[in-house]
Amino acid sequence: MTNPSILLCSDLDRTLLPNGAAPESAEARPRLRTLAARPELMLAYVSGRHQALLRQAIADYAIPNPDYAIGDVGTTLYEIHGDHWRPWREWAEHIAPDWSGADHGDLAALFADLDLLRLQEPEKQNTFKLSYYAPSGLVRDELLAEMRSRLAAKDVRASLIWSVDEAADIGLLDVLPASATKLHAMEFLMARRGFDATRTVFAGDSGNDLPVVTSGRLRAVLVRNAHSEVVSEASRSLRVLGLERRLYVARGGFHHMNGNYSAGVLEGLAHFLPETEAWMR
Ligand SMILES: [Mg+2]
Repeated sequence: MTNPSILLCSDLDRTLLPNGAAPESAEARPRLRTLAARPELMLAYVSGRHQALLRQAIADYAIPNPDYAIGDVGTTLYEIHGDHWRPWREWAEHIAPDWSGADHGDLAALFADLDLLRLQEPEKQNTFKLSYYAPSGLVRDELLAEMRSRLAAKDVRASLIWSVDEAADIGLLDVLPASATKLHAMEFLMARRGFDATRTVFAGDSGNDLPVVTSGRLRAVLVRNAHSEVVSEASRSLRVLGLERRLYVARGGFHHMNGNYSAGVLEGLAHFLPETEAWMR
């Protein structure tokens, strides 16, 4: 049996999934499926989605079943065999020390009296992810400072990630172990499965992909529909590190496709690792 020699990691929404405003080339996903069937390729999805929404995306958009999935913004890592998604326990053990023995329930109790915060639905929570809704216009410095001081008193190393769901006009606040990032989860996967920076390609499209893209720890692709500010920020950061060759921005034209979504991922993969082009036919 051939062992995989290349690790392709990709964001889903608006990177592999054509769920943005830009058009998709009809050939893009069929070629992606052809590529993913090759034994030389290991495929991992990296997303903010939780398991049920990851599975739904795979079914709805007919994208290939991956070998691994990093979900919930880096707090979960699954090894996938057919329909069976096995949480990689070692990853949980790797991030657990950040919370010094505390789990989701302990931290929820710690913040129970903060009435600006409302717990998100149960499927958006897990052992190492505590997620709240908050008013979108919240002046949050004081609240976050209070939360940080309570966490510090319990010796918990956590990141507090604030974002706004503009469509729903609501604030989102995630409390995560400090080391549970998408980048760190990918580095864990690379180390455990023996892929170095030259054999690993990551593809993304937006600001939350920047920490991975600009890390310089792997080869990165931005699809053609990526935001222009993301492209300039990524180019600038990697130039500062002298690692601009670790970035490829899809421009279209590869096999007559437009470079958006999966087409851009394929174009970038073939740019870095030309032997993969034959696997897409
Ligand atoms: Mg995205």
